[in-house]
Amino acid sequence: AACEKTVPQMTNPTESPPEADASVQSEDRKIKVGFLMDTLEEERWLKDKRLFKEAVEEIGAEVEIMVANGDEVLQIIQAETLIKQGVDVLVMVPYNAEAAGVIVQKAHLAGIKVISYDRLVKNAEIDLYVSFDNEKVGELQAKALTALVPKGKYVYIGGADTDYNAHLLKKGVFNVLKPLIDKGDIKIVYDQWTKNWIPTNAYSNMEAALKANNYEIDAVFAGNDATAEEAVKVLSRHGLAGKTPVAGQDAELAAIRRIVNGTQTMTVYKPIKSLAVAAAKAAVRLAKGENIVTERKINNGKIEVPSILLPPISVDKNNIAETVISDGFHSKEEIYQH
Ligand code: BGC
Repeated sequence: AACEKTVPQMTNPTESPPEADASVQSEDRKIKVGFLMDTLEEERWLKDKRLFKEAVEEIGAEVEIMVANGDEVLQIIQAETLIKQGVDVLVMVPYNAEAAGVIVQKAHLAGIKVISYDRLVKNAEIDLYVSFDNEKVGELQAKALTALVPKGKYVYIGGADTDYNAHLLKKGVFNVLKPLIDKGDIKIVYDQWTKNWIPTNAYSNMEAALKANNYEIDAVFAGNDATAEEAVKVLSRHGLAGKTPVAGQDAELAAIRRIVNGTQTMTVYKPIKSLAVAAAKAAVRLAKGENIVTERKINNGKIEVPSILLPPISVDKNNIAETVISDGFHSKEEIYQH
């Protein structure tokens, strides 16, 4: 049996030996998706990472993931690495909406299409934007808070100025607030971004907001649940937690627990799996050279970007079971038994 290995196999003369057929090899080669992430700080991004990988592999493609940890220069270097490695398509969560434009240019020079994942890249010819309707996230926050506090002093603790989502969210909030502000019912008494989404910055903003208003405020908008957590900590230090309504987003486990214990009013649930699956499918289609037509388009300062915008869901103490629990986003046990 041992010598059989060295005996050349008789091949059908009409068939070329497999190693000589490059076209078959390239057809057999798996499509490779590069996934550039900004951060894994918030709980959601770990889900994005896992679910995106699963979704890409489910389609029979493979993915290489890199995380820039809030460093825009590192994100560009990581993009260059993936482009050099020959990925077929890039999917990116930009750290800095403007600075990431150069990544799109570099990818395009190499013939690689780029998808903006969750966050929009500004002023660049991005091929597709797959996200939640972020303006709607803000509208949901504002509808929930104004229903409870139709008149009063509002504090706005926004997200990172460098993240366009933070701007879209704010736009959504003000779509709802504007008529109430114009009537004089609602007054914005503090309005700040949270630099780099860093929770300690939200904490100091919240302290400043309270101090500037003699510790008398009526409601708080927070850019996400991590900043809401800081706002609640500060309110709690001043005996106000549970008395002053707070809105967040992401449906983090800790936020759902705060909703249960009454220190946070609402959050906005964004089903990450739908986002990951939509982005993975789109990435593979773009890599195959297919064209993707979308119903919606979002202007990013340079072009009208074809956009897939999934609907966000408002969550408060009344619908935890039929949203995050029934979707398996969090289990009943982890919410209530801790
Ligand atoms: C996302 C939020 C997230 C925040 C901080 C935003 O762009 O939409 O879900 O909490 O970034 O990472």
